[in-house]
Parts: sequence; structure tokens; C-alpha cells
Amino acid sequence: MAVTRRTSRDIRSESRLDVLHALLLAGEASRNDLVGTTGLSSATVATVVSDLLEGGLATEARRTGGRVGRPTTTLRLNGDRGRIVGVDVAETYVRATVFDAALDELASAEVATDEHDDADRVVDHIVGVLDRALENSALESSAPGTGAAGRAGASREDVLGVGISLPGGMAGWGGAAAPDAAWSHVDRLRERLGLPIVVDNPLKAIATAELWFGEGRRHASMITVNLGTGVGAGIVLEGTILRGATNFAGEWGHSLLAFEGRRCRCGRRGCVEAYVGAEGIRQTLAEIDPGHPLAAGTTQREFIGALAAALEPPSPDPAVTETIERTARYLGSAIADLVAIVNPEMITLTGWTAWALGGHLVPDVRRRVGEESPGDAAAGLAIEVSTVRGNSVATGIATIALERFLGDVGLVTTRVPTAL
Ligand SMILES: [Zn+2]
Repeated sequence: MAVTRRTSRDIRSESRLDVLHALLLAGEASRNDLVGTTGLSSATVATVVSDLLEGGLATEARRTGGRVGRPTTTLRLNGDRGRIVGVDVAETYVRATVFDAALDELASAEVATDEHDDADRVVDHIVGVLDRALENSALESSAPGTGAAGRAGASREDVLGVGISLPGGMAGWGGAAAPDAAWSHVDRLRERLGLPIVVDNPLKAIATAELWFGEGRRHASMITVNLGTGVGAGIVLEGTILRGATNFAGEWGHSLLAFEGRRCRCGRRGCVEAYVGAEGIRQTLAEIDPGHPLAAGTTQREFIGALAAALEPPSPDPAVTETIERTARYLGSAIADLVAIVNPEMITLTGWTAWALGGHLVPDVRRRVGEESPGDAAAGLAIEVSTVRGNSVATGIATIALERFLGDVGLVTTRVPTAL
């Protein structure tokens, strides 16, 4: 087993993140509970808790413990410490979601975009939805007299950090080949907003969401497969998100499934995405039944929703049933490649295609992965639809922003690269 040398500073950060994470999941916990869930010593938990109290990230409450008269002091995260905003910049929309400092979702706002929008428009959209989401959070959570920095106060001053998820190869942003261009826009955004910003890509966001809110804490090596317009994999190796040299690790949607196969929107032929992305699934249906009413005309999300509806008993549509069977085979074969390379303990499926069709896909995907993975690579591998709530990109990128904030106030040695 590999031994990682860590400094005491790293270990203290890790302990703080562990306690924070345990509090986030429990809602409310005593110091003893935290010792139990984190496996840290009571001395460490006591130190970490006092750091969190001092930093205003946690608050104490006294709970009288039922029949046993002695009150217990419990802790919870202090949501009112401020606001965190997660912005999901996707191909067809920009969505901002406002969270409190305990990462409870308060409100969101969305604008439909055109993938031909230029970078200036994208910056305008981000600023616009962020302000609207903050306004919405003030409207939805305001109870009179809850204090200036409390529930009612949702303006930019209350924002501790903004996470922005930006797809790597997005048209209009300068594209994957122009990271310098993306940087100059991020600087412009920072100027316009006057807030701490962290930018990352959606695959890192979904992996973070899975680490904090899903299966991540129970599995050291895990992959979250995102299925939507685009397709990709958030990879966690030995508890750490795999980023690679230029943060492009996990672009598995553009790995090869069929030599000289279908044309992918990245320009290459035969990519995984051209088969299991929403448009790829539509093409499969068109190949099975060219005249099928669902094969043309609707938006991608409507199409995927209609497929799910067409699978309902008592009379599931045979062409749609076959489409799902083929899609599961494509997906299973492509995941078997991931398994051969990463050898994970767990794979979760996320994204709107997974929410709609995951239940239908998973059994055949499991079978295929079992058949095609080398040796024992898939022995004991679990494949499930992710249990992460809501928009996992927004949740994940907000979590990254919270981690960055904790780094900025000196509570953790941030794991989020600064050069993003
Ligand atoms: Zn491709």
C-alpha cells in the first residue's frame, strides 16, 4: 500500500473537512457523535470544533436529552455565515443556485442561452442569473426581523464565494484550445462581480458532489458518469479527484467506442458521446425505426423524457425498448474500458439522462460491464444511479467554492487548485 507523506497542516485540514462533512450530513451532532462518525479522536474533534465555532462556521445549541435530564450540547453548521453560489454554465442554459453556508439550497435562476453566444454574452448571462438568484433567495427566505446578515440579507455582500462550472470545449468561450482566453474572461467576471470566484469543469463538480453528498465517503476509488447532451466521467482515485496535467481528466465521452463510427460533435468519429449522449440515443432510435415520431423535432430533454414515458407498461414501445437495450450495451462496453483503466469500487450515473432512463439502463449495463471487464476488475463493482440531490453540477461547484472559502480564511489547506 502506498504511503502518502502528509504534513500536520494537511492532516488538520483533512480533519476539519471530515468534521464539516459529518455535520453537513447529520444536520446536528454532538461532539461524541462526531467522534463516532469521523473516527477522529475526541481531542481532535474538540480542537476542530472550536476552530469551526471561532470561524463562525458552526454554532452550538443545547438539547435536553429526553428522560435523561442532562442537556447535551449539539453542533450544527451555521448556514447564516453567508451565501455560496454555484453557477452551471451549460450548452443551452446558465443556471445560478444560491446555497447557505451549510450548503442548503435556497433559490436559483436560469436563463436559456444559445451555444453561439460569444464570451461577452456568457459573462452577461452569468452576472444576470447570479443577481436574480440572490434576489430570489431574499424573496423566498425573508421573514421580517431575521437580522441584516440573516435569512433576509441576500445581496452580493453576503456571498462568501462563487463557483462557476464551465465545460472545457464550450463554443463561444474560446474553446478548449484557448485557456488564456477563458482566463481573461474569468478576470473580467471577477471584476464585474467583485467576489471570490473559482472556476472548474462539470466533471470535477459532479465528482465533488458525489464525494460530499453521495457515495464518495464510502469508496476510495469511484467514478461518476455524467449523461446528458455531453458525456463524461468524474474520477475519484484513492479519495482524490483526478484532474490531470491540464484539468481534462475524465473526458471519457470523447474516447473511442467504435473505430470510424458515428461523427461526434468534437469532430472525431466513434466517440462514446456519439452513442450515449442524448443526440446519440436519438440517432440509435432513428437507425432502428427511421420514421419513429420521437426521432425528430423535440429538444434533447423532451426527447429523453418521452423515451422514459414510452417505456411505461402495459405496452412499452418496441423501438424504444430496443433503443434502450442498445444504449445499455454501448454504455456498458464504454464503462468496461473505464473499469479496465481505473478499477473503481463504485460507479454512479448522474445527469438528466441518468435520472430519466437510469433505472432502465442499469441492469443491462451491469451485465455488460461484468462480461467485458478484464479479469477481476469488475468483481464487487457496484453500479447505481447517483443519489446526489438536485443539480449535481451546481451543488458540486458550490462545494468547491466553499472549500476555497475555507482555504481563504485559513481553515483548510485548499485542495482546489488556485490556477483554475
Ligand atoms: Zn467526441
